Amino acid sequence: MPSVVESRRLILDAVKLLPSEEVPLLSATGRVVSSSVNARWDLPQYDNSAMDGYAVRASECRENTPLSVVGTVMAGGSRDESVPPQSAVRIMTGAPIPSDCDAVIPFEEILAESCTEITVPGNVKAGAHIRNKGEDIRSGEPVVTAGSVIRPADINMLAAAGITALPVYRRVKVAILSTGDELIEPGTEPINGKIINSNAPALAAAVMEAGGEPVLLGIARDNEESLQEKIASGLRADVLVTTAGVSAGERDLVREVLGKAGVEQIFWKISLKPGGPTAFGMKGDKPVFSLPGNPVSSMLMFEEFVRPALLKMMGYKGVFRPLFKGMLLEEVHKKEGKASLLRIKVAREGNIFKVHSAGNQQTGLQRTLVNADAIALLPAERTVFQAGEEIDFHFLHDSALMGRDDL
Ligand code: AMP
Ligand code: MG
Repeated sequence: MPSVVESRRLILDAVKLLPSEEVPLLSATGRVVSSSVNARWDLPQYDNSAMDGYAVRASECRENTPLSVVGTVMAGGSRDESVPPQSAVRIMTGAPIPSDCDAVIPFEEILAESCTEITVPGNVKAGAHIRNKGEDIRSGEPVVTAGSVIRPADINMLAAAGITALPVYRRVKVAILSTGDELIEPGTEPINGKIINSNAPALAAAVMEAGGEPVLLGIARDNEESLQEKIASGLRADVLVTTAGVSAGERDLVREVLGKAGVEQIFWKISLKPGGPTAFGMKGDKPVFSLPGNPVSSMLMFEEFVRPALLKMMGYKGVFRPLFKGMLLEEVHKKEGKASLLRIKVAREGNIFKVHSAGNQQTGLQRTLVNADAIALLPAERTVFQAGEEIDFHFLHDSALMGRDDL
């Protein structure tokens, strides 16, 4: 039975990058660029003023010799006529520098000013308050490189450099199949021992949160024909995730039918609780995850094993959530031999995290996961964790406890 680390390695070694697609700039936010995208022109495109003020020749600036004002250049305008000796041009931020000027004096540094004449300070340096053509980026240089995640600031620079579309890795399509004779769809009344198929919408939400596209396949019944049909359509997506029917019960046919459909099993069962009876296989380039049916187990297995794989397929680096150290506020016990995922609450005191159990850790209780901010992975060999000890944890959401309301 592979450990958590071994299972993750087997999964990440097996999954492949998806192909890329060209998307408009606005659809690229948060996605991973698949090859570098180069500036179509210099930024800035021309030498321009960094301030509202006067464009001058630095060598002509002397405190006792006024300069004549010979015109104005606005942002978006330009001045083609030459600037006569001993003259200055009013210039607004962003406007091109007249070709025979080499410095800008901001309005607030002008010593005296009339409509026709200005008195300037004597110590003006060539190049002052000028943004030089190409100093931000040169035409043909990469604005973004393969592997970078597009943020709004990238969009700004890409748009400025003439880019309207760019290549990003495709969103992963994840087929979600619930299995079980006891299941009925949300919106129907649970009578006679029926159970609502709540895993499917939850996993679909988790897929979307990870940046993928869920494909809901509905429910397969615990018989070969039903499973075969649903699994065949699931294998048309990039990834297939099934829930339930993967333990050692009489009706647990999922692995068998996957095998008949050509899915090569890479492992079955992870040395972990909850979530142990999870299977992973590949059909060609397509990963297939068979998660336990229990809602808490299926959510946690998605979080710890499926999500990182989806992120890798979509080109992301750093596919595991960051680990933090938290001081345990109470003693925690677990069985020896298997790692354990502890659902925890986290409180922040300054830069110190203090953690405690989010409630009764029985796998059957969904509320404890709903209450949890984070997951602590307790190592297999340990059984007792002392109050005051530091343990590793990761948050379950990007934003959990990291935001603040104080001004
Ligand atoms: P199994 O993995 O088939 O032994 O199922 C374990 C538990 O999870 C049982 O109580 C099932 O009723 C429940 N379960 C299975 N599939 C789902 C589902 N899609 N949504 C919610 N609960 C489920
Ligand atoms: Mg079942």
